[in-house]
Order: sequence, then structure tokens, then C-alpha cells
Amino acid sequence: MSTEVSSLPWAAAPAAGNAIGLYAKWTPALDAKIEAALARLRDATIAHGDGLVQSSSLGVEDMVITDLISRTGLPVHISTLDTGKLHPETLALLPQIKARYGFDVEVFKPVADAVIQFVAREGEDAMYRSIELRKACCGVRKMEPLGRMLKGRSAWITGLRREQSGARGDVAFDEDDGNGRRKISPIADWTWAEVWAYVDKYAVPYNPLHDQFMPSIGCAPCTRAIAVGEDFRAGRWWWEDSSKECGLHAKS
Ligand code: SF4
Repeated sequence: MSTEVSSLPWAAAPAAGNAIGLYAKWTPALDAKIEAALARLRDATIAHGDGLVQSSSLGVEDMVITDLISRTGLPVHISTLDTGKLHPETLALLPQIKARYGFDVEVFKPVADAVIQFVAREGEDAMYRSIELRKACCGVRKMEPLGRMLKGRSAWITGLRREQSGARGDVAFDEDDGNGRRKISPIADWTWAEVWAYVDKYAVPYNPLHDQFMPSIGCAPCTRAIAVGEDFRAGRWWWEDSSKECGLHAKS
């Protein structure tokens, strides 16, 4: 199965410039939300020091958080997962971050032998055959390297927002991740319009796939564009009737 793209007319039509043109709206609340997000990041830095890491998906929310961290000079380590199945546009953000902010994002990859064995046993397209196999693929390509990323850390920063899906509707700014760490989601209360207004104002680098109606971008085989009225995460594992989560942010 190839990566699908919505066939609805609006999705095929030329974008109104780009995602900024389509979505950005500076709301009266946004200045205060930015200050509050910065305060959460400062507090987390004070509380956790070197135990704090930003686990960036390189999605637009995480790019906003990286920008907040960088503009204020907070000493937060930034990491990401390269599953081996990401779009080239996603990986292209790594040198862009280096050029823009002057630091490297630490990249965690799956164990090569584990991927080879999984693919040899189940095939490249195993994720489409069952939820169990999809979760097994996520286990090898995401969960195992995430475990290494978080080893020795006491807190991680995520770009989760309550608006992203029903399953994320009660995301807290600071919560237990179920594994003894704090999970900090400093922009949990931001709207999609506010995220893009920030990107516009501060010229934050972002994945151009967001311009192609992909609000949530994961691995290429498991991401498609969404249609009008669909949930933000409807383009993730779209063939499943599931909560659209890979385990990274599963509730304990
Ligand atoms: S999102 Fe898809 S390709 Fe990526 S790890 Fe999960 S199942 Fe595998």
C-alpha cells in the first residue's frame, strides 16, 4: 500500500499560499500563552537541569517549542527519533535547525539488526496487516529508541496539544508519564491558529508537508493528508479504527 493523499477537491487545490496563509491567526490570548509556555519551560529547566530533554517529532508544535527554547537561551537538550521511515522533508529539518539555531539535534535510531529481523519476518508493509503488527513496528522503530533517549532523564518536553484529538483532550502541562518521569507539554492549550501565528511571526522553520494538509506527520507509510472536518490525527494510521497513538504518549 502506498502513502495515500486525500482525493477531496479542496485537498488537491493549490493551498492559499501555505499553512501560514491557511491557518495563522494571532489571537488576543496568544501573548499571554507564549509567556506562560516560556515560564513552564524555565520552571522545568530549574527543576530538572540535565535531566530534561525535548523529545521533538520535528512537527510544527515541536519546532515552535525549539524556537521558544532557543530564543530564550534555555539549556535544554533536544533529541528526535529517526525511524528509518521518515519523509525526506522531515529529515531536512535537521540541517535547517543547525543553520537557524546553531546546535545539533541528537538523533536516536532503531537497532539495525532488530529492524532487519522484523522486516525479514513480517515484511515492509506489516503495519497495514494488523494493529498488533503496526504496534510491533512502532515498538522496534520508535519505542526502543525512545527508551534510550529518555534513559537517565527525569522529564521530557512534548508538543502535545489538547486540540489534536479526543484522546489528547485532557493533556496536562506537567504530568506523570507513567514511567516515573514528568512529561511537560508547554503549549498544550494553544490552538492550531496560534501555532501558525507564532511560526509566522518568528519565521520558525517547518516541514513543508504541513502545507499539503498533513497537520500530524509521522512515518511516510503511516501518514496521509486529511480532509475537511477530519480530526488532526486522522491522517495517521488512517486504515485503523484506533486511538491514533503509537505508544509514545499512551496513558499508563
Ligand atoms: S509509524 Fe508506521 S512505519 Fe513508523 S514505526 Fe509505526 S508502524 Fe512503523
